Amino acid sequence: MIAREEILGWLTEVNEDTLEGLWTRADDARRNAVGDDVHLRGLIEISNHCVRMCHYCGLRAGNRDLTRYRMTAVEILSCANAALQYGYGTVVLQAGEDPGITREWMAALIRQIKHETGLAITLSLGERRIEELAVWRESGADRYLLRFETSNIDLFRQIHPSRTGQTEVDRIGLLKELRRLGYEVGSGVMIGIPGQTYLDLANDLYLFRELDLDMIGVGPFIPHPETPLATQSKLVGNGSHGQVPNSELMTYKMIALSRLVCPNANIPSTTALATLNIKGGREMGLQRGANILMPNLTPPRYRVHYEIYPAKACIRETAEQCHGCMRRRIEMLGRKVGIGPGNALTTIRRANGILSGRKRLTPKPSGNRF
Ligand code: SAH
Repeated sequence: MIAREEILGWLTEVNEDTLEGLWTRADDARRNAVGDDVHLRGLIEISNHCVRMCHYCGLRAGNRDLTRYRMTAVEILSCANAALQYGYGTVVLQAGEDPGITREWMAALIRQIKHETGLAITLSLGERRIEELAVWRESGADRYLLRFETSNIDLFRQIHPSRTGQTEVDRIGLLKELRRLGYEVGSGVMIGIPGQTYLDLANDLYLFRELDLDMIGVGPFIPHPETPLATQSKLVGNGSHGQVPNSELMTYKMIALSRLVCPNANIPSTTALATLNIKGGREMGLQRGANILMPNLTPPRYRVHYEIYPAKACIRETAEQCHGCMRRRIEMLGRKVGIGPGNALTTIRRANGILSGRKRLTPKPSGNRF
C-alpha cells in the first residue's frame, strides 16, 4: 500500500512531467490487473423521485423545480433489451431514494430482466432496508453501488442529513451488509466538496482498500444551483486554504491512485468527468487507470430530468448515439470492448480463496457469475 505521504504528494503535485509518472504507473497497473478490455455498463436512470435532502444533489426532495418521473417496468425492460442488443454485459438501474420503488415491484423487475436478457444487474438505489437488499439479491441482482461520498464523517453528516426520526446514516456499515449478502460492492466519492481536504482524499483511498471494493467510482463535485452546497462552494472558493479543487486534474489523480491502491477493482471513467471535458475526459480517465464506461440508456425525455448536477454530459443523446460514440472512443485508444458481464477480479479471487490473510465472508454462489 502506498504511504499516506506519497498519496498526499501526488494529490498536491502540479508539475505535469512529474505527474506523467503517476499516469504511467496507473495505466500499467490497470493493464496488468484487468487488461485492455473496457466493459460497458448500460445506465438506466429509472426514477428521479427522492425523499432525501442531500446538500449536493439536484434530485433532493427540496428541489421543487424538477419534473419528477418514474419509468414503468415495460420501459425499463425495453432499455435492458437495448443493452443486450448493443452487446453490453450489464445494466445499472439508478434512482433517487424513492419509496415508490417498492420491494416487490423491484424484485419482479429484476427477475424479469434476468429472465429476458441474462445481463448482470447493478442497483444504485440509495440507502434501502437490508431486508429489501436481501430480496433483490435473491431475485438476481448482482452488484450494488453506494458511494460513501467522503470518509470524513463530520463532512458527510453535514452534506447528507439523516431523515427526521431515523438513526444516523451509516453507509459504510451498509456496504459491509451488501458484501455479506453476496453483492459485488461498489462505492466512491465526490472530489472537491466544499470543506474537503487532501487528507480526506487520502483517507478515502485507504477506505477503498479497507473495504476491498469491487467497483470504485470517483467524480468531481459539480454545484447544482438549487442545492445548499452551491452557495457554499462560492464562499469557499476553489483551491484556497487547503480546499480540494473539483477539477478535472484532481479527478484523474483520484482515478489513478484508486487503481494503485485497488489494482483489481472495476473503475469507471465517469459522466461527471466527461461533463468537465466532453472532448477527451472519458478517454483520459481510461488512460489513467479506468476500465469501465457507462453509456446512458435512459430515454432522452426522462434523461433531461435526471439532473443530479447541471449540464450533464450527453443529456440529449439517444442510446443509439451513446452506443456508437463509446465504441469509437474505445477503439481509438487501441483498447477493446469487453465481452460478458465483466465481473470484478476482486470477487473472482475472493470466491476462489486467492485473497488470503484476511478474514472474509464468502459470497453466495450464483449460477451465471463466473
Ligand atoms: N440516490 C442514489 C444514487 C443517485 S446519486 C444514491 O444516493 O446512492 C449518484 C451519485 O451521484 C451520488 O452518489 C453522488 O456521488 C453523485 N452526485 C450527486 N450530486 C452530485 C453533484 N452535485 N456533483 C457530482 N456528483 C454528484
